[in-house]
Formats: sequence, structure tokens, C-alpha cells
Amino acid sequence: MSDCLFCKIVAKEVPADVVMDTARTLAFRDVNPQAPTHVLVIPKAHHENAAALAAVDDGLADDLLTTCHAVAVQEGVAGSGYRVVLNTGPGAGQTVFHVHAHVIGGRSLAWPPG
Ligand code: 5GP
Ligand code: ZN
Repeated sequence: MSDCLFCKIVAKEVPADVVMDTARTLAFRDVNPQAPTHVLVIPKAHHENAAALAAVDDGLADDLLTTCHAVAVQEGVAGSGYRVVLNTGPGAGQTVFHVHAHVIGGRSLAWPPG
């Protein structure tokens, strides 16, 4: 998709701090991190949100989750615990409409907050 920010990161037209690059996924640090580890994991193929990704019956959602865990291991947060978030739709706070999983860790993540 030509005007999609994350497609441009995949195409290397926009720079990103890439931490993992697999056949079908890319992981890079969030530009506005909410925790010591805050990595975005995306499929290289453009799908708008988690619902669209789930509708693709080719294992891509599996690949995304596998990369999320591999990133957590690489970042050293798999043992202490990490959160995977897929904001889906504007009402949930999705602002970039290329599906992305936030992998967040490295601090206490008690839920619900407060
Ligand atoms: P959303 O709110 O859609 O779930 O998450 C979008 C995320 O993308 C936000 O956490 C935001 O900080 C991040 N983001 C927005 N623009 C860029 C960018 O150009 N580069 C990187 N690495 N992250 C970005
Ligand atoms: Zn895209």
C-alpha cells in the first residue's frame, strides 16, 4: 500500500530501528516507547488490522505471534513477562492501519492498571 507508513518501513523508504527480520515479519522499536522494551511486530504484507490478519488462512498470524515471542526472548523479557497488544480499530487506539503487535516489557505490567 503506497501511502502506508509501515509498508514504507518494510520497503526501507522510512528508517526504523529493526530488531528482527524474518521471511514474513518485521520487528522494530516503537518511536514513542511506553516501556524499556517496546517493539512493534508487523507482517510484511499489508493487512489493515487483527481481524483482516485473522481472515488470512495461511499461517501469517502464527508467524506474527512466533516473532513476538522471539523478540521477547531476544530482548530478555520472556522470563519476567511481557504483553502483546493489537489495538484494533480507532476506538481501541489504533492509529496506524497496518496491523502491528506491540511487544511491551521490562517494567511491571500489572493489569488492570492503577
Ligand atoms: P497504534 O496506536 O496504532 O496501536 O500504534 C502505533 C504505534 O506506532 C505507536 O505506538 C507509535 O508510537 C508508533 N509509531 C508511529 N509512527 C512511527 C514511526 O514512524 N516509526 C516507529 N518506529 N513507530 C511509529
Ligand atoms: Zn501497510
